Amino acid sequence: MGQTLTEQILDDHLVEGDLEPGEEIGIEIDQVLAQDTTGTMVWLQFEALELDEVQTELAAQYCDHQTYQFDFKNTDDHRFLRSAAGTYGAYFSRPGNGICHNVHKENFAAPGKTLLGSDSHTPTPGGLGQLAIGAGGLDISVAMGGGAYFVEMPEVVNVRLEGELPEWSTAKDVILEMLRRLSVKGGVGKVFEYTGPGVETLSVPERTTITNMGTELGATSSIFPTDEKTKDYLARQGREDEYVELSPDEDAEYADEIVIDLSDIEPLVATPSMPDNVVPVREVAGESVEQVMVGSCTNGGYEDILPAAKMLKGREIDMKTEMIVAPGSKQASEILARQGWTAEMMAAGVNFSEATCGACIGIGHVPSSDSVSVRTFNRNFEGRSGIEDDSVFLSSPEVAAAAAIKGELVDPRDLAEELGDLEAPGFELPEKYDGSKTDIIEPEEAVDDGLVKGPNIGSAPIGEPLEADIQGEVLLKMGDNITTDHIIPATSDILKYRSNIEKLSEFTLSRVDDTFAQRALDSPGGVLVAGENYGQGSSREHAAMCPQFLGIEAVLAQSFARIHKANLFNFGIVPLAIDEETYERIDQGDDVQIVTDVAEAVASGETEFTIRVNDDWEATAELDASERERGILEAGGKLRLTKEQYADE
Ligand code: SF4
Repeated sequence: MGQTLTEQILDDHLVEGDLEPGEEIGIEIDQVLAQDTTGTMVWLQFEALELDEVQTELAAQYCDHQTYQFDFKNTDDHRFLRSAAGTYGAYFSRPGNGICHNVHKENFAAPGKTLLGSDSHTPTPGGLGQLAIGAGGLDISVAMGGGAYFVEMPEVVNVRLEGELPEWSTAKDVILEMLRRLSVKGGVGKVFEYTGPGVETLSVPERTTITNMGTELGATSSIFPTDEKTKDYLARQGREDEYVELSPDEDAEYADEIVIDLSDIEPLVATPSMPDNVVPVREVAGESVEQVMVGSCTNGGYEDILPAAKMLKGREIDMKTEMIVAPGSKQASEILARQGWTAEMMAAGVNFSEATCGACIGIGHVPSSDSVSVRTFNRNFEGRSGIEDDSVFLSSPEVAAAAAIKGELVDPRDLAEELGDLEAPGFELPEKYDGSKTDIIEPEEAVDDGLVKGPNIGSAPIGEPLEADIQGEVLLKMGDNITTDHIIPATSDILKYRSNIEKLSEFTLSRVDDTFAQRALDSPGGVLVAGENYGQGSSREHAAMCPQFLGIEAVLAQSFARIHKANLFNFGIVPLAIDEETYERIDQGDDVQIVTDVAEAVASGETEFTIRVNDDWEATAELDASERERGILEAGGKLRLTKEQYADE
C-alpha cells in the first residue's frame, strides 16, 4: 500500500514505533524553533542538559511575542535568549524582526524536513511541504539535544481541493470554511493533507495561511505537496536549492476525505468569540466597526497586506474607524516601504506598527470597550485582545480593508459594486523577497561567551528520582475542570516570571487558594486531589513545573486532561486516577500514604496502587502509563532522564 505524504516524511524520520494511528511513535527532528515567551525555559532546560552545542540541523530563536518593553524583565529575557543562541549555536532573530512563523518560513522552512516548535502555530510551513508540529518547551530542549520527539501517530485526512478561488475570495476563507464544517475540535489527532487540482492554483503564502490555522482545528499538523509554486517561492527567497519534490503515493490511503470546491468559496468571517463561529460576511453586514487590524502569523505577509494597500490607494479610511497594519516580518515591511505601499496606506489613514505578535495577545491596540474589531488574525477567544468583553471578528485582509473603508462590515463584492471603481486586488508575490536580513544573527557570527542572566532569570528545576514512599498531606482538594490557568495564571503580571520558577511558583493554584504555595513549601512531599478533567486548557508546562518545584509528588484525580497528564510525567509527578467514592471520601488535610512501593511498582508496570488515608481506610488508585512514561517517572522527570541518557552516550 502506498503512503501519504505525511507517512513518507514520518517514515524517513522514524526512530521508534510503527506508523499505526493512535500508537506512540518517536521521530527525529531536523529543525527547532522557539519564541520568546517559551524560549527562556527551553534554553534553561538545555543548559541543565549540560550539552555544548545544538544537535539538530538548525535551531532558531525568535523574539516576537513580547517586543514592547514594559520593564527590564523583557529586555533581560531577550538578552539571555541572544546569549543562549550564541553559546549553543542557534540563529537569533532580534526583537522587531518579525513573528517566528513568518521569519522561519522566509528563511529556513524546507520541504521534507521535520520542524518542532514551542508555539502552537508551528505547523505554518506545512504550506512548503515541511512536517511541522507544536510542542512543549522541554520537548524542544530534548530535540535540540538530539533526542527523538514522541507523538501519537495521527490519522491522515485528505482535503481535496478542486476548482479555483473566485475574485475577492481568499485562502483565509478556505480555512474558515474548514472551521465552519469541522469546528475547533475537528482536527484533534489528525494531520490534514491537502491534495487535488486546486492545490496548484494556490501560492505558498496562501497555502501557509491555511496550514497556520489548521491549529484552530486542533490538528497535529497540516501539509501541502510541493510543486512549481513551491520552487518559485523558494527561488524568490533565494533558496531554490532547498526545493525537493514531494507528493503522496498514487495509491495512498487516507483515514477520511473532505472535498472543497474553491470556486464555491465566498468571503467569510468568524464572529465573536470562537474561530469556528463562521458565517458569510453578508450575514453580518452593516455591523459598525471601530478598529481594523491587518497582520499576524496568518495574514501578515507582503502578499497579505498588498491587497489591502491596493484597495486603500487613493481612498480614506472611514472617520469612525481606526486601521492598524502590523506586518508579520520586517522583510514584508521593508518591501512594502520600498515599493511605496506604506506611504499609500499611511495617506489613507493607516497606523503602521512594528512586526510583532503584539495585539494578537492583547499587547497594544486593545479595542475600546463595547466595540467591534475586525482582525486578520487566527484566534478571537474572549478576552484575548486585552479586554474581557471584546467583540473580535476574524477575516481576510480584503474584508478587513473593506470594513475600514466603509466603517462597517461589508462583503467586498458589494462594496465594489457600491463604489464602482474598486477592483479585486488579486494575489501577488514580489519579484524577489529582497528585504535585508540584518536582524538575523547567524550562529557563526554570534557572540559566544556564555549565558547572560538578569536578576529575574533562574535555572530549570530538576526533579529527584522516584522514591519507594510517597506520603504526605492533601494540600488542596479541588473540583472538576481545573485548568492550567487555575494552576498558573497566564496574566502578564504573573507570566513575567516565566524565567524564574522560584518566584512563579508562589502563584501556583492561587486562583483556587492563595495560601496553597506557602502550605506546600511548609509541608514538602504533599499531594493534590482533584475531580474530573484535571489540567485542561493549554500545554503550558509551567503548570506541572511549579507544583514539582513546590515538592508535590502525586496528583489523585478522577481524570486528567491529556496534555497536562503528559506534562505531569515530564516533571516527575505521579498522576493517579481515583474513583468518585474515593474522591468524595478524601479531604483536604488528610494524610495520604501510597502503600505500594511506588518506585518498584512503576518500574514493574503495575497499574493498581493502594492508598491508605489517615492510617484508617484504604482505596485503590490507577496508573495509566506507557513504558516510556514509567521510565520518565522513575528518573524524576524527563529532564533528569535525558540528562542521564546524554551523559551515558
Ligand atoms: Fe501566536 Fe498571534 Fe504571534 Fe501568531 S501572531 S504566533 S497566533 S501570538
